[in-house]
Amino acid sequence: MKFEKLNVPLEGKRIEVEDGQLKVPSHPILPFIEGDGIGPDIWAAARRVLDAAVKKAYGGKRQIHWFEVYAGGKARDKYGEWLPQDTLEAIRTYTVAIKGPLTTPIGGGYRSLNVTLRQELNLYACIRPIRYFEGVPSPVKNPQDVDLTIFRENTEDVYAGIEWREGTEKCRKVIEFLNREMGCAISADSAIGVKTMSARASKQLVRKAIKYAIERKKPSVALMHKGNIMKYTEGAFKEWGYQVAKEEFPEFTITEEDVAKGSRPAPPSKVVIKDRIADSMFQQILIRPSEYSVVATPNLNGDYLSDAAVAQVGGLGLAPGANIGDTTAVFEATHGTAPGYAGLDKVNPGSLILSGAMMFEYMSWLEAAALIVEGIQAAISTKHVTYDLARHMEGAVTVKCSEFADVVISKIEEGS
Ligand code: NAD
Repeated sequence: MKFEKLNVPLEGKRIEVEDGQLKVPSHPILPFIEGDGIGPDIWAAARRVLDAAVKKAYGGKRQIHWFEVYAGGKARDKYGEWLPQDTLEAIRTYTVAIKGPLTTPIGGGYRSLNVTLRQELNLYACIRPIRYFEGVPSPVKNPQDVDLTIFRENTEDVYAGIEWREGTEKCRKVIEFLNREMGCAISADSAIGVKTMSARASKQLVRKAIKYAIERKKPSVALMHKGNIMKYTEGAFKEWGYQVAKEEFPEFTITEEDVAKGSRPAPPSKVVIKDRIADSMFQQILIRPSEYSVVATPNLNGDYLSDAAVAQVGGLGLAPGANIGDTTAVFEATHGTAPGYAGLDKVNPGSLILSGAMMFEYMSWLEAAALIVEGIQAAISTKHVTYDLARHMEGAVTVKCSEFADVVISKIEEGS
């Protein structure tokens, strides 16, 4: 494998894909991007926790060989560009990677590095599992009722970046075409953005969400949409979602409507497919969170819903995430680079650590994943937490980022 400026670890093997299934060797090579701002702090902490969990779970039988690849400021210094081809090629080759947060370069017409990564690698599903850890301060009465995994479409919708600034030649042309040919009445001083949703992208997202629900024995998948107003985009998303369930998973799914017609509970072996209008979904997760398990939704809805749901369980510091394509997957802290805290060894590494646990689940290293989740819960129970949690927790001791990792590791090592 030839990379311009990367040093592939001498030991370890790459994760292969056979018939769409991952073949994970016992010593996989996993690329990581340290990230900008607080990235180096949280990555140093997370890496130690991930290695400790693997060691505890498998003795020496399994081990990760970490492979540093570059994006953001480190890439600019090494390559003179923010997201080098080397990095994209390494992630494509090694299939599964993990990253810290990346700065969005300001000026010069740069796209967000995260958006570029998702588009270049066709990571079409943004997956955010949102659950509560006992003891974390939360603004709601029963945060423990939230156990939600959001599948957000990652490549289309108003996020595709198809828009024109008000007053420009292109914008005038689009307005003129729409008014003349399509019978619209758009005011000349408008800016224009285009919302696209394809059957292909919508279906592949919903397919992934339903497969996930079936594999993990989740009770339902809710299609969240604003189809009452945007009939041919969001409304179509809902229709395509139901089609995927009916045509591709008939023996594993049942619609909420069919359950209601039979006036009986859904068979436990089947995933209930339901749909909710986006605005009502925000009420539902507050009022009846336990009725929702997996949510599949277009890009913009998913962006809003993810942050709202995360706030319910106590905020960004413990929210993991992943961007996944057919097989390639990049796991990531879902917060940004918090530049004011960079290098202070102060922030919460929980989001990146839990992203690592999610990565192990994806690799079917379930024992290591479970040890990490238990370790985080046990560490929070000791009330030795980073400042973001400590300031809202009675009797808490504020620890540094690296010290929080130490507590989690000691709990993992104590674990059975
Ligand atoms: P941010 O997430 O960096 O910060 C928002 C708030 O959360 C701040 O108060 C910050 O101090 C706090 N915070 C963030 N992570 C924390 C942690 N681990 N522990 C404790 N507190 C934490 O968002 P922002 O300020 O809007 O963005 C800063 C930069 O990060 C921008 O360049 C933005 O483009 C980038 N960003 C990157 C990603 C990503 O890489 N996935 C995501 C969001 C923002």
